[in-house]
Amino acid sequence: MAPAAELEPPAALSLPAQQPPAGQAPAWAQTPWDVVVIGGGNAGLVAALTANDSGARVLMLERSPRQLRGGNTRHTRDIRCVRSDGAAASGYPLDEAWSDLCRVGDGPSNEQLARFTVCESESIPAWMAEHGVRWQPALAGTLHLSRTNLFFLGGGKALVNTYYREVDRRPGITVAYDAKAEDFEFDGMTCRAVNVGYGGGRHRVAASAIICASGGFEANIGWLRKYWGDAADNYLVRGTPYNDGHVLARLYQAGAASAGQERGFHAIAIDARAPRFDGGIATRLDVIPFGITVNKLGQRFYDEGEDFWPKRYAMWGGQIARQPDQVAFAFWDSKVSALFIPPMYGASSAGSISELAAGFELDAAAINRTVAGFNDAVIPGKFDPGSLDDCRTGGLVPPKTHWALRLDTPPYHAIAMRPGITFTYMGVAVDAGARVVCDDGSRFENVFAAGEIMSGNILSTGYLAGFGLTIGTVWGRQAGTNAARHAR
Ligand SMILES: Cc1cc2nc3c(=O)[nH]c(=O)nc-3n(C[C@H](O)[C@H](O)[C@H](O)COP(=O)(O)OP(=O)(O)OC[C@H]3O[C@@H](n4cnc5c(N)ncnc54)[C@H](O)[C@@H]3O)c2cc1C
Repeated sequence: MAPAAELEPPAALSLPAQQPPAGQAPAWAQTPWDVVVIGGGNAGLVAALTANDSGARVLMLERSPRQLRGGNTRHTRDIRCVRSDGAAASGYPLDEAWSDLCRVGDGPSNEQLARFTVCESESIPAWMAEHGVRWQPALAGTLHLSRTNLFFLGGGKALVNTYYREVDRRPGITVAYDAKAEDFEFDGMTCRAVNVGYGGGRHRVAASAIICASGGFEANIGWLRKYWGDAADNYLVRGTPYNDGHVLARLYQAGAASAGQERGFHAIAIDARAPRFDGGIATRLDVIPFGITVNKLGQRFYDEGEDFWPKRYAMWGGQIARQPDQVAFAFWDSKVSALFIPPMYGASSAGSISELAAGFELDAAAINRTVAGFNDAVIPGKFDPGSLDDCRTGGLVPPKTHWALRLDTPPYHAIAMRPGITFTYMGVAVDAGARVVCDDGSRFENVFAAGEIMSGNILSTGYLAGFGLTIGTVWGRQAGTNAARHAR
């Protein structure tokens, strides 16, 4: 774990903050609160609303300016929930959801907490609807999510705005923007106050309970470098630049136990031309199952057709992160071009693989060898992108287990990809009540955590599409309920 002093704030954090009247603490810093929530993304919003539903007066601290509120949640589209009430064909039974979670990566970190998350997910749709969220049909594409995931109307930005509207309607919740939680004031195992950076000053905010919902440390390249070395310099961060792990580091300093693997993260293949931060969903590339993927040496390095894309897309960032210079190239032909969402910035196209390789300054001979070897290994089958079909390779290492078609129909297309880090898993350990657990097994009296900052209790290495919001919603409610109870 990284001591706070070593953390490097991302460059994009130098955004202007609102200035409070000179010499005066903001009104929200002049009164003690039942519950202070740190972070205004999904987990923080759910926690704030739940705590307020339970009667608590809540202050939510959001470090970004108002127009960038909502953290990584702004970029989301759908949430994975058990649905056992519908017809068998449209439902998503508990056993299936649990088995899906167990089959990704190394499986759940803490089986008890992970199982609780999956069980509780069934009540999420009703809760979201009660708090203003509306639904839309599942988006088409390669993610096969229509049965397992619910899509909220308008995507993540609309979700965030809906919850903020609900928050703004309630006299019992106050939101402070441009307000960065800097450190905690502990008295033994009890946190008495949060010190908040705001408008160039520092303000002590007293609270009966604290909920940490400030995301992971994915935007802190310096911290990532500790586990990934210089490779981290080539990572692109898909979400907010504000999730730099500052609160997480402060909790560790105060004695919080770590949960989850240091290198555990959700990272996907994104367009190498994407911006360093906040590129969001549009830079994601979904071509991998339909073609072949090579590193800069022209070598394939992982089975592109191992399983359905929602169960595999989140490990491709890690795979590319392990390749030379953290770059990879997808090649496909015109047979499959219409089967996935087209890359936002377009792909390179040419009449031959050699021409494409030259455009990326790759060794054309090496890539042609790889393509020829792949084509020779393809065992023809009945191609079906909607099922785990029988189009596979034989005798090839690594194999392509499904959707293997020869690359033989020009024009050919290619695109360069980088690891796009979505969020890190390593966070603070919590108990079943969302209370933060310490290194010695004790618990802080009144400090709770929800969302990405504690996702390492649930996720080890793999990921299921839509499960980030599931974790934040289940644990936001849990933290909100128990923080309000503690405050009473
Ligand atoms: C491009 C993209 C697409 C995604 N799509 C999906 C999807 O469709 N479905 C899904 O389930 N998940 C998706 N995810 C993952 C999902 O965004 C997260 O799991 C979830 O939104 C995390 O919620 P959170 O509240 O924990 O963190 P966030 O939403 O990131 O909120 C954390 C907040 O804390 C604030 N903060 C940080 N430090 C401080 C501090 N010191 N003081 C005060 N505030 C602070 C930040 O400004 C931020 O607003 C996606 C992520 C990305 C990046």
